[in-house]
Amino acid sequence: MKAIRRFSVRPVLPEPLRPLSELARNLRWSWHPPTTELFRHADPEGWQRSGGDPMRLLGTIQAARLARLATDRGFLRRLGLAAGDLHDYLTEPRWYQQAAEPLPRAIAYFSPEFGITAALPQYSGGLGILAGDHLKAASDIGAPLIGVGLLYRHGYFRQSLSRDGWQQERYPVLDPDELPLELLREADGSPAEVALSLPAGRSLRARIWQAQVGRVPLLLLDSGVEENAPAERDVTDRLYGGGREQRLLQEMLLGIGGVRAVRAYCRLTGHAEPEVFHTNEGHAGFLGLERIRELMDDGAHFAAALESVRAGTVFTTHTPVPAGIDRFERELVQRHFGDDGELPGVDAARVLELGMEKPAAGEPPLFNMAVMGMRLAQRANGVSTLHGEVSRQMFAALWPGFDPADVPIESITNGVHAPTWTAPEIASHQGAFSDAKLTAIRRSLREQLVHEVRRRLRDSWRQRGASPAELGWIEHVLDPDVLTIGFARRVPSYKRLTLMLHDRERLTRLLLHPERPVQIVVAGKAHPADDSGKRLIQELVRFTDDPRVRHRVVFLPDYGMGMARRLYPGCDVWLNNPLRPLEACGTSGMKAALNGCLNLSVLDGWWDEWYEPDFGWTIPSADGSGLTAERRDAIEAAALYEALEEQVAPCFYERPGRWLEMIRQTLDRLGPKVLADRMVRDYVHTLYAPAARAHRELDGESAAELADWKARVRDQWPRVRVEHVEAQGATGDSLELGASLSLRAQINLGELAAPDVEVQAVAGRVDESDTLTEPVTVPLKPVGGADLEGRWTFEGPLALDRTGPFGYTVRVLPAHPLLASGAELGLAAAPSDAAPGTVGSGMPLR
Ligand SMILES: *Cc1c(COP(=O)(O)O)cnc(C)c1O
Repeated sequence: MKAIRRFSVRPVLPEPLRPLSELARNLRWSWHPPTTELFRHADPEGWQRSGGDPMRLLGTIQAARLARLATDRGFLRRLGLAAGDLHDYLTEPRWYQQAAEPLPRAIAYFSPEFGITAALPQYSGGLGILAGDHLKAASDIGAPLIGVGLLYRHGYFRQSLSRDGWQQERYPVLDPDELPLELLREADGSPAEVALSLPAGRSLRARIWQAQVGRVPLLLLDSGVEENAPAERDVTDRLYGGGREQRLLQEMLLGIGGVRAVRAYCRLTGHAEPEVFHTNEGHAGFLGLERIRELMDDGAHFAAALESVRAGTVFTTHTPVPAGIDRFERELVQRHFGDDGELPGVDAARVLELGMEKPAAGEPPLFNMAVMGMRLAQRANGVSTLHGEVSRQMFAALWPGFDPADVPIESITNGVHAPTWTAPEIASHQGAFSDAKLTAIRRSLREQLVHEVRRRLRDSWRQRGASPAELGWIEHVLDPDVLTIGFARRVPSYKRLTLMLHDRERLTRLLLHPERPVQIVVAGKAHPADDSGKRLIQELVRFTDDPRVRHRVVFLPDYGMGMARRLYPGCDVWLNNPLRPLEACGTSGMKAALNGCLNLSVLDGWWDEWYEPDFGWTIPSADGSGLTAERRDAIEAAALYEALEEQVAPCFYERPGRWLEMIRQTLDRLGPKVLADRMVRDYVHTLYAPAARAHRELDGESAAELADWKARVRDQWPRVRVEHVEAQGATGDSLELGASLSLRAQINLGELAAPDVEVQAVAGRVDESDTLTEPVTVPLKPVGGADLEGRWTFEGPLALDRTGPFGYTVRVLPAHPLLASGAELGLAAAPSDAAPGTVGSGMPLR
């Protein structure tokens, strides 16, 4: 018989054990080994059964066991220590409290997914785990973040395999009462709620669950409430599920509802209001519209509200491919922001304009969430140096008149949360590792992985329908003394799950090599709607099912944080072979590195930035060569085999001293760079603090002034012209390194004045087509006022500090103290023949 309703009955802990409840509710347990150990110790079997989940453990633990623990002095002492440690962690001043500069009082961080722990499965992959690591590191350094996301009742799917290797998806229902969550409540005890108006008089309501991530609260909106009609109840049903309209509603709930949830949280708890809103990818972009609506309700005009909101908004882009961007049909957006939809008072036409993209030839424009993100945020960044470059090119059309290098998108390279991702054996080690110790730890980690793999493989085969009698071979899968390679990630095509299968015979020889065998552990989920990804998984699974190689290569279903934490430390080499430059950053290799696992990767994302021969190996990439995809795969696969045959395996088996040295270099020199602490500090200094400053400066009045000024500049800009440029001190062959030219430019500014612009000399080496490469800019100063035609003169010296072909040009940019960059308005004026002037009557400088 099925129950018609379920609820959970929470245990009553005996008085001395009460602190267990707070320890279970604050997710810091998940990265604090002494607390995790305490729970394991409370009930070792229950801990196993609960899958390492303290809430579930406490929900099922026997009363008799609790009674015994309540009088166990040793246990109570440890409990007291853990509770005291958590209290200190939550209250002591940390890095942020000791910073010299004034920092934002609060920052709201929005993301469609958060991967904090396997016990709160609200993530699909890298984006969510990055968000989780961001919150944890913020907590560790004391940065006052408030996380905002959605609570998906079915989370992301759990993966298993059919007999013939086809991905199967399950969506176990999550009961919030059994998760480490608490409802945000009004003062009268009723649940706090946000509501969105939908077309045709419908409404979308959501409750707000709160998870505690160390010092950082995480608010999760949940539309699964009875007041909603069934369709609206299902809005937060699944992560990345449903059709376009459901996706739009999820994003409206996340952005608009999320801001309302933050307001409710601050009102009810006295938490400081955020000065900065950070959106992790474009999905939460509507948060800017809601804040514009708030300001307009207080009497601001749209343009002024936009300036104020932009100043305090940070947008991080994660995808280097236009196809990866979230887009909606404009009619759908129009309908939801139209007369009877959300944000009355904000004209739907304005909303549509913010998401207006330049469509591909022959296609209708769509509403582009990333483009809106860029327009609603004064500061934006990509997630590695290379990805910053790619993003500046990808979004260059939004800043016409600027070279991609000038596009105001910065980069902050991702990082990973060391306490979450480092095996205790490595993390707890003090001082330098001796050779013997390091060898022993690495072998022990490898051996633990071998056992974990066998356990998971057995479970998987049972699920695929095998009987125990057929599975004796699993006892011999993997070998704790064989070079172990890991490859685990989501399965979009650019990550090339099956590149290693390109030449199966060659791979087989590698696996079965008599002296230098390798073994490979593979895992990964394909998006449920991605059949081509599922075909790749099937191809791989079928290969691993072959009795000739199945003891050396395995596919483990259901890649998630629980598996990942054991996989990275147990591998010797972490493999990554994306199509460069499509891996925006990649973080699994960083987590591997923290455990002394060496990387073997295409020079993409973070590895492009930090690779050194002492840390691992590269797989040469054929990007930019104009080859067909097949040809490129063939070349790069051959390079992968060669690296394994010629470099990696010989080093592992024949030069163990060199291998240990590489591990040490990885731990000591690479380790400190890949940390999420470093990442969050970078965000604080380069984005959060400047955004908070800008936001403070843009109170109502100055926002209106800035908006007026921008309107005036846009209006006048067609009249701005560089009319004449001359250089004195420049005659043909007298130009020598160290000399300087005196530049004088006549600029027509229409009705603008000199303080409204910056006139720059842009100078540097030129190539054959007179294009400036890596130019420097030097501001020129106005002399006197405008002449009768509105012409201004600007002057300044230009130092000739480089030998070889040299050129310069002059350009005019809008200038205002409240702009974050000269490119902000996407307006620039240059001499009408856009080629740079060359010095001395066209003679290149020698
Ligand atoms: C780190 C991690 C990812 C992301 O790894 P990438 O290298 O960025 O692909 C995905 N899933 C899990 C479970 C992870 O731990």
